Amino acid sequence: MPGLLKDSYNRAIRDLRVSLTDRCNFRCFYCLPHGEAPIAPKEAMLSYEEIEYACDVFVELGIEKIRLTGGEPMMRRDIEQIIFKLARFKDKGLTDLALTTNGYFLPHRAQSLKEAGLDRITISLDSLRRDVFKTMTGVDVLDRVMEGIAAAKQAGLDPIKINAVIVRGHNEDEVADFAAFAREHDVKMRFIEFMPLDSGHEWSRADVVSGREIRRRIEERFPLAPLQVQRGSETSSRYRFADGAPGEIGIIAPVTEPFCGACSRIRLTADGQIRTCLFSTVEHSLRDVLRDGAARAEIIDFIASVVMKKEPRHFINDPGFVAPARSMSFIGG
Ligand code: SAM
Repeated sequence: MPGLLKDSYNRAIRDLRVSLTDRCNFRCFYCLPHGEAPIAPKEAMLSYEEIEYACDVFVELGIEKIRLTGGEPMMRRDIEQIIFKLARFKDKGLTDLALTTNGYFLPHRAQSLKEAGLDRITISLDSLRRDVFKTMTGVDVLDRVMEGIAAAKQAGLDPIKINAVIVRGHNEDEVADFAAFAREHDVKMRFIEFMPLDSGHEWSRADVVSGREIRRRIEERFPLAPLQVQRGSETSSRYRFADGAPGEIGIIAPVTEPFCGACSRIRLTADGQIRTCLFSTVEHSLRDVLRDGAARAEIIDFIASVVMKKEPRHFINDPGFVAPARSMSFIGG
């Protein structure tokens, strides 16, 4: 029985994010502002059989949560098939199979995702105003994303999390409106600090709205109470509404309040590279190992050795910080 995955700082690795594609139909300015051509040619992308096999090994190594992401993961036509295959690992120790999506394809496909075995969904929604949504995402489809949220609810993909990246001068004045949205629709609203992961490398600290400010803006309208849960390796600080209203608030503050010490995550890019941190500047080709015909034991050794190289923390706040070459859309958010 191989040992469970631990890095050299004794952090247990339990959480795998799998990017299904580096392609995206949105052009969010904080991620893929110029709509670059995808880096990975089709033959470099992992097939669904390779993803299934890799995840099987990861689950054997103690991965409990798999989140499918991208790019826009629903641009991959075989996503239901991938979910169906991965859902079978719940017999082997997988406890949570989740998806992060921009919501565009959900109106017609939320039900089929649920039927394939998806447990949970996170939908990105950066503004409740049509003009701001369009400026931030590059596409004029707010209504369709709203329909997607409704469809996910209808399909029973519960709980629904909504992600909003808050960027100075764009949507910080909507923070309390988002909280009202969480109350009205009984969803978990998660606010994310803007990170230096934009392909244009135009991130500036001045554009970051801190988690502290986000909380203050919410509490001006809706007092919050911290949720009495062990944070563990969770990325967000979680709150309920003090007046008992439905919905939940999560604040993800990797820039101003890093949580690397409890990180349990690794990532697999659409072209089969393992990344041990969102901000890694090196990648490790699991794809080459898989395609070289390595035996399962060799694949396990490879993954275990890569995990040992996981960085102690990110270096965003250090003077010499170098942003990763690939944007969030390639890494898999
Ligand atoms: N296309 C899907 C979506 O829109 O949710 C999944 C991929 S997207 C890269 C995953 C998450 O990363 C989204 O919630 C997005 O807002 C977030 N994200 C992308 N770039 C970011 C950045 N520079 N800072 C903070 N969050 C970012």
